[in-house]
Amino acid sequence: MTNQAMKSSPVQIGSVTIGGDSPIIIQSMTNTQTDDIQATVEQFKELADAGSELVRVTVNTPDAAKAIHAIRQQLNDEGYADIPLIGDFHYNGHLLLDRFPECAKALDKYRINPGNTGTGDLRAEHFSQIVKIAIANDKPVRIGVNWGSLDQDLFTELMDENAKREAPLSDKEVIIEAMVQSALNSAKAAEKLGMASNKIVLSVKMSEVQDMVKAYEKLYAELEKIGKPYPLHLGLTEAGSGMKGAIASSAALGILLQQGIGDTVRISLTPSPTGKRSEEVEACKLLLQTMGMRSFKPLVTSCPGCGRTGNNLYQEMAEEVGKHIDAMMPVWKDKYPGVKEMKVAVMGCVVNGPGESQHADIGISLPGKTETPVAVVYKNGKMFQQLKDVDIITTFKQMLDDFVAEKYGN
Ligand code: SF4
Repeated sequence: MTNQAMKSSPVQIGSVTIGGDSPIIIQSMTNTQTDDIQATVEQFKELADAGSELVRVTVNTPDAAKAIHAIRQQLNDEGYADIPLIGDFHYNGHLLLDRFPECAKALDKYRINPGNTGTGDLRAEHFSQIVKIAIANDKPVRIGVNWGSLDQDLFTELMDENAKREAPLSDKEVIIEAMVQSALNSAKAAEKLGMASNKIVLSVKMSEVQDMVKAYEKLYAELEKIGKPYPLHLGLTEAGSGMKGAIASSAALGILLQQGIGDTVRISLTPSPTGKRSEEVEACKLLLQTMGMRSFKPLVTSCPGCGRTGNNLYQEMAEEVGKHIDAMMPVWKDKYPGVKEMKVAVMGCVVNGPGESQHADIGISLPGKTETPVAVVYKNGKMFQQLKDVDIITTFKQMLDDFVAEKYGN
């Protein structure tokens, strides 16, 4: 749930509501060739199974547009009817949506990039064609501004104006201004064409953390000023791969979410060649859960270890307990609905072990190098058992299973 002063308007995307009282919704995007129907359906399912509540695909060619209806059909047949399918359009969206009405109908939302619907007068013309098709099909749109494809005419105009100022803004500040204006002008144009304000979502993605935060804060302030609470989709565009992408995105999204800005999130990770696309969904879930905004699965609090740990048992244990939770969640989540809130602690020594374990629902404090070789298990804040001369990992996993059944069984 957002804590923003200005509550965003709810926007319905297929069977999912974003904004309003909805929790922050997770979005992801496929990287398959959309006209490869089987590959796209498979990746959509992987993302949805991981927890993506909205999935976007690129619609870049006539073959991709032709494939959309079949993709939706197959997803419906395979039990994914509730997950909205969003089309991402650049350059030729007006043509594809016009030539392939089945595609326009099957998609649950269109993403329009106002920076690349055309140049000169064609920009507005193509933009209005897409909006009119969205209105005719009763579909919402996301006006997604991206600094990599910013409306160059608008940017040049603002740069010229800036040059005349007594104290000109930096180029970066003008870019941010252009991003915000592009989003606001496009939303205004869409409403002028007849689109309802509760069909519009906005985003202003940039790839540097501080810039992106400033752009969203500025957009949010402007929306507050004009009384237009369009929901905002947050994303640090081109965030990068692995730890860099996840950390940069978390920093940027975290700052905004904490202020109550943002209704949907995507963490755009470059997948490693052997990695899974759904890692971006896992990253969103962890971000929202560690910020205390949503819960998806029990999280393990574990210490980093230090010179007090005589061996690597705490590392093995933290990893094994995490894996065990992942393996059990498909069963636990239906059988024990409250379990996703459970907190588990795995700690390396007596310094913070007992305290942290008592704060968790269930925790274990392992013995440090100089301590009595006894591992102490805590349940619901109280000491439960001391483990000695047993396989600690296996025993604790069994205790965890019993605890889940006991605490969340009813
Ligand atoms: S709990 Fe103990 S082992 Fe873990 S980091 Fe703290 S002092 Fe080190």
